[in-house]
Amino acid sequence: MGRKFFVGGNWKCNGTTDQVDKIVKILNEGQVPSTDVVEVVVSPPYVFLPVVKSQLRPEFQVAAQNCWVKKGGAFTGEVSAEMLVNLGVPWVILGHSERRSLLEESNEFVGDKVAYALSQGLKVIACVGEMLEQRESGSTMDVVAAQTKAIAERIKDWTNVVVAYEPVWAIGTGKVATPAQAQEVHAGLRKWLATNVSTEVAESTRIIYGGSVTGGNCKELAAQPDVDGFLVGGASLKPEFIDIICSAT
Ligand code: PGA
Repeated sequence: MGRKFFVGGNWKCNGTTDQVDKIVKILNEGQVPSTDVVEVVVSPPYVFLPVVKSQLRPEFQVAAQNCWVKKGGAFTGEVSAEMLVNLGVPWVILGHSERRSLLEESNEFVGDKVAYALSQGLKVIACVGEMLEQRESGSTMDVVAAQTKAIAERIKDWTNVVVAYEPVWAIGTGKVATPAQAQEVHAGLRKWLATNVSTEVAESTRIIYGGSVTGGNCKELAAQPDVDGFLVGGASLKPEFIDIICSAT
């Protein structure tokens, strides 16, 4: 079975109730390919999750942008995987580079979160990606392999995992990876999965690209054989997100 194209919209820490209404309207009115062709998941901040989930067209799903590493309890300010499940939120983004760098989430911590979220029945968009210095020093593959390894060591079943390759230098910078740069790392990650997990997992796991994806550059990226979709930040707040969803066909 082929890998179904996947488009995630990461709203990050953006939005007011009015803005959320506007974005939901754009999403609900957009002409997009059917769910046989593309899986669409939008990720508003926690506080807007219930309202977005209730107002969004049923074929679009929602994701949280993070969740706690273990069962909830005395962890002030955190939101647990159990709570997301209780609310009917099917997906969670984990290991986004903004959390890895600003909040110092280590590979191991992200791996623990992925394992716990999966154990509770959530589906996970697991983010990996190198910083500019790491790319320039030629260690891109080592970095993303180490990030993926910390996940692979903690989980067995990859069915509910989407890997998002997001080079840090491309996030929010307008400096998108070239299709060749994206393809090279995606193919490298797939090879890593084949060698270290299994050929089945390598073949079936979706590897999506994130970092300055726009309506203008998505088609060329989507044409790469190992690019199975996108995780979109800035452009997911705009009408062009619909164009990005349409790049599935
Ligand atoms: P960007 O963000 O599309 O604004 O570069 C992508 C992301 O951080 O997921």
